[in-house]
This record gives sequence, C-alpha cells and structure tokens, in this order.
Amino acid sequence: GSLLSAHELRKSFGPTPALDGASFSIRPGEVVAIMGPSGSGKSTLLHCLAGIVPPDSGTITYSGRHLTALSDAERSALRRNDFGFVFQFGQLVPELSCVENVALPLRLAGIKRKDAHRAAQKWLERLEVSDVGHKRPGEVSGGQGQRVAVARALVGSPRVVFADEPTGALDSYNGERVMQLLTDAARESQAAVVLVTHEARVAAYSDREIVVRDGQVRDAAVAV
Ligand code: ADP
Ligand code: ADP
Repeated sequence: GSLLSAHELRKSFGPTPALDGASFSIRPGEVVAIMGPSGSGKSTLLHCLAGIVPPDSGTITYSGRHLTALSDAERSALRRNDFGFVFQFGQLVPELSCVENVALPLRLAGIKRKDAHRAAQKWLERLEVSDVGHKRPGEVSGGQGQRVAVARALVGSPRVVFADEPTGALDSYNGERVMQLLTDAARESQAAVVLVTHEARVAAYSDREIVVRDGQVRDAAVAV
C-alpha cells in the first residue's frame, strides 16, 4: 500500500505553472529521489507533499487522510509528529548547541530535557558526530552540520523524511557520506525518504527515481 500519495497536483505562483499535473506515490520505508532540471518544480512538489505549500488543485493522501482537507493546526501537528525535514543548509538554530538542536523536536513534543538530550546524543553518535554536541552550528563544518540536521530529522521517529538538496552545500565526499548515513538510518527506523536532488550520484542512494519536467511527473508507481 502507499503511505503518501499525490494525485494531479497543480500549483502556480505566476503565469507559468510550477506544478502542472504531478502525481506521486511512496510506500512505507521507501527512499524515492525526485530529479529534474532547475526550476522544473521539484521543491514545489516536495513542499506540497509535506503540507508546507497548498496546491491549487489535486489531492494529497497521507496514511489514508486527505492532507488538503486538514486544518492548519492538524497539518502542523502531523508535520511535527510524522515528518522530519533536512534542507540544503541545515537550518539549525544558531543560538543552540548541536545536541540542543537535535533534542528540540523532542522538547517541543513535551519530553523531559534529560531524556531528550540522551536520545539526541544517541542520534549524534549514529551520525558519527557525537563529538560536536556541545558546539554551536557556526563552529562545525558543513558536513558535520548536515549530519546534525539529519539526526534532528530522525530523532522523533518520523514516518517520512523530506530532504531538499540535503547535500547541495557539501563536497562530493561529505555529500555521499551524508546520503549513506541518512538512507541507512532511515532504513533502520523504517522511515520513508522523499529526496530532491539534481545529482545522479545522490539519487543513486534511493530505491527509485522519478523525474519532474515542466511541473509534470510521471511516477510509474502511481498507476499500480
Ligand atoms: P526546482 O526545485 O525544480 O528548482 P521549484 O519548485 O523551486 O523548482 O520552482 C518551480 C518554479 O516555480 C520556478 O519557476 C520557480 O521560480 C517558481 N516558484 C517556486 N516557488 C515559488 C514562490 N514561492 N514564489 C514564486 N515562484 C515560485
Ligand atoms: P531550491 O530549489 O534549492 O529549494 P530555490 O532557490 O528554488 O531553492 O527556492 C528557495 C525558496 O524560495 C523556496 O521556498 C521556493 O519556494 C522559493 N522560491 C523559488 N523561486 C521563487 C520565486 N521566483 N519567487 C519567490 N520565491 C521563490
């Protein structure tokens, strides 16, 4: 069965549609790479799937529920509880230490500081950056920062991790290492991954690739 699917999404910001009939489906635990040239609508598709941007038309179904029919409060609760996010630039909170950044989703979910920090430290170890926990994001390398961002995306046991060019700011060694760690950790925790990239080397870590062109997607899995 499908965990997250979209049917015939359309979205325009101006005269040219960013999405022009995009359909997409992902199964639990599956890692899918959304590929395509710059400006083709990849990020818009990801933002719609994640409930961040409302489509003009079309439906998005997550775990049997219509995302588009939920209230804003229900959608943000869903994002907090079921989704994790990694972006090109980690978007870590600069004033917090790395371990506090990773613990943040758990703290927001009401988990006690000590327990949240213990879980966060475990994820920093899993991502091979246990030694940077006390540092602030501005004091670590790009590769370390993205590993911290991946730890933060996974700490809340999400069902889906959305990653928009997660290696875009990294050199090829760190990019591949972050992809290896992200996909290994997601597979272990049976989280699905929706990954936007324009690099074949990054997409190679996925189970399946789909291509966006001029806002249109042909996802073979949807027809099944
Ligand atoms: P990609 O991720 O493939 O580079 P995007 O989804 O970012 O493509 O963009 C698709 C098109 O929609 C582009 O023409 C882009 O400029 C436009 N677009 C995306 N987001 C916005 C926005 N918030 N406001 C206006 N135009 C946007
Ligand atoms: P990426 O495609 O790597 O995510 P972009 O530079 O395309 O990065 O977009 C960064 C942000 O700006 C996104 O939230 C996108 O929706 C928004 N955006 C993209 N194009 C435009 C645009 N023409 N006008 C306004 N916002 C845009």
